[in-house]
Amino acid sequence: MTDPHSTDPAPHGPVAARHRRIGPGRTSPERHVSVVIVGAGFAGLGTAIRLLQEGYRDLLILERADEVGGTWRDNAYPGCACDVPSRLYSFSFAPNPTWSRRFAPQEEIEQYLKRCVDGYDLTPRLRLGCELQRATWAPGRLRWDLRTSTGPLTSPQAHLGTTVAGFPNLFLMAGPNTGVGHTSLIYMIESQINHLISCMRMMRDRGLGTVEVRAEAQHAHNTELQNRMAPTVWAAGGCSGWYQDRTGRITTIWPAPTWRFRHRTRAIAPKEYVLTASPHTPKRHISDKSGRAGADEVQLRS
Ligand SMILES: Cc1cc2nc3c(=O)[nH]c(=O)nc-3n(C[C@H](O)[C@H](O)[C@H](O)COP(=O)(O)OP(=O)(O)OC[C@H]3O[C@@H](n4cnc5c(N)ncnc54)[C@H](O)[C@@H]3O)c2cc1C
Repeated sequence: MTDPHSTDPAPHGPVAARHRRIGPGRTSPERHVSVVIVGAGFAGLGTAIRLLQEGYRDLLILERADEVGGTWRDNAYPGCACDVPSRLYSFSFAPNPTWSRRFAPQEEIEQYLKRCVDGYDLTPRLRLGCELQRATWAPGRLRWDLRTSTGPLTSPQAHLGTTVAGFPNLFLMAGPNTGVGHTSLIYMIESQINHLISCMRMMRDRGLGTVEVRAEAQHAHNTELQNRMAPTVWAAGGCSGWYQDRTGRITTIWPAPTWRFRHRTRAIAPKEYVLTASPHTPKRHISDKSGRAGADEVQLRS
């Protein structure tokens, strides 16, 4: 949930996503934050690190548990370890030369994530024991109003597993059809982070208030994806399995080589999105500040 125009270096400066409550049962004055990240697992921590590197310093990470780590905090059964080589199961921007084994055990992965928190100074932006309960889009102010407490989440079909029609300025990490069974999910998460950053750069460069994927683009993506899925082992042959939902639809796995996902998420095609101006931006700024207003895509260069 983002407002890319506010990149105030002060950690709690003026922003778009709003908090009325920070922490269950505790009422705090309304706060504005540019970027709110929900969850402090691999996806949330990686997103925070990359956004900080990009200069988006006004961000908060909400984590309902009392510790970071997500999957690697919650699963501590004997023998728990990753099943892809650890050099792949770690951030490309935070390599770890000290893995003790090719397939590192759970404790090492959890420690790695904690070192990332320390090494990238995420602690001041981390709110532990803080669960997001409700997120309501305020169309007049182009902001999300957030409340923290307890509550369920749903998982709609999404464009590139990341953006959802009807949910402006909201980005899913490890969303629908981004799962992989043969390699590291971190590769997919980093691809989505690239996509998010491309979107935010486009918003900043063009003075946009919102970015929302067009329903037609989302539909076209999902139709292509399901067509590609049809002959695969997950869908063909009439077997049911974990990857399918109750209707037999597969919304979990990515059905193509992962480099295709990296390629597809690397650039933003503005025509696939409804773009609205920020109320604070003069109209001419929207069309010419970036010098790329007529471009078909905005590419992440790094
Ligand atoms: C036992 C096990 C082994 C695995 N091994 C591999 C592997 O070898 N390779 C691989 O690629 N993948 C593996 N995976 C998949 C793994 O889940 C992902 O790779 C990755 O850790 C997911 O990270 P994440 O940040 O998306 O989600 P999570 O790690 O689940 O983190 C989400 C965080 O969000 C918090 N949260 C959720 N809702 C809210 C809310 N409303 N408010 C505040 N906080 C909230 C949660 O408490 C959690 O900390 C494994 C999964 C399991 C369970």
